[in-house]
Amino acid sequence: MKKKKIGFIGLGAMGNYMAKNLLKAGYDLTVHDLNPQPVEEIVSLGAQKAKSPADAARGVEVIITMLPADDEVKAVALGPEGVLEGAGKGSVFIDMSSIAPHTSTYVAAEAKKKGIKFLDAPVSGGTVGAEKATLTIMVGGDKALLDEHMEILQTMGKTIYHVGDVGMGETVKMVNQLMLGINLAGIVEGLVLGTKLGVAPEILYKVIRASSGYSFLFDHRIPNYIFKGDFTQPGFALDLLRKDLGLAMESAKVNKVPLFVTGQAYQYYTRASAEGLGKKDMSAVIELLEKTAGVEVRGKVE
Ligand code: NAD
Repeated sequence: MKKKKIGFIGLGAMGNYMAKNLLKAGYDLTVHDLNPQPVEEIVSLGAQKAKSPADAARGVEVIITMLPADDEVKAVALGPEGVLEGAGKGSVFIDMSSIAPHTSTYVAAEAKKKGIKFLDAPVSGGTVGAEKATLTIMVGGDKALLDEHMEILQTMGKTIYHVGDVGMGETVKMVNQLMLGINLAGIVEGLVLGTKLGVAPEILYKVIRASSGYSFLFDHRIPNYIFKGDFTQPGFALDLLRKDLGLAMESAKVNKVPLFVTGQAYQYYTRASAEGLGKKDMSAVIELLEKTAGVEVRGKVE
């Protein structure tokens, strides 16, 4: 079967790799981003350049967006020269950004008025997962529509789940992010306390990796960021994590669900962002605590 034409918008830390994987798999790709640098790079690999979201959506069967947050998704989807101005009737809009579930349902309803179908398909697995096409993708929307587009999603991810109607993908993602944010706060507090008490950071890493405090974040964040003390190339920017915890807090407020620990973690990342760490990798949150405790958690992994 002939591969579908795809318009891809948002070529940042994640979208860049995801678009490259689609190109590699032979999809006819048109790309757009406000930043010209990744656009030029992907065009040099064989993609076409679009001058606006509407332009990227024109004449393609599938439009994929991978944007930072709700405001950008709304602007790109609904704004002037937005996706809905360019997309043809019967085309499919797959938003893979992490945003509020109610924004997905709103954008889906606006898309439906123009005969455009919608899936929310946020991802987990970080830039490594995006590069290796091993992302977990949680999809909300019509199951048959997902099945029709499974091959496209499988080009970017390994584990793809249908989790319910439009907005449910984002709901599951929000819950994942809440757990991730709390987990990271726990890791940095533990590392700083242990180091302050005189345990070598390498020992903490080695022993806890083989113990019950271990988690997925350990392997990537400790050797690649914390031990190096270099957070300048974000795998996942601290401000994006703060945004995700903010979505959970907002949802908790509306639905009257107390989230005590999430609230604390949210304040942690807010403080870090206010201190100028927002554009760094999320693990830079450790710098706050290191400063307060007067230790640095640095080391090498054999
Ligand atoms: P990013 O900030 O690196 O990339 C976003 C891209 O969107 C940038 O290239 C930016 O120039 C572009 N952009 C912003 N506004 C635009 C507009 N109006 N028009 C066109 N382009 C625009 O973000 P990222 O890390 O790639 O994350 C993207 C989404 O995926 C976020 O919602 C994030 O929470 C989520 N996510 C990120 C990771 C990760 O590890 N980085 C993992 C899972 C999910």
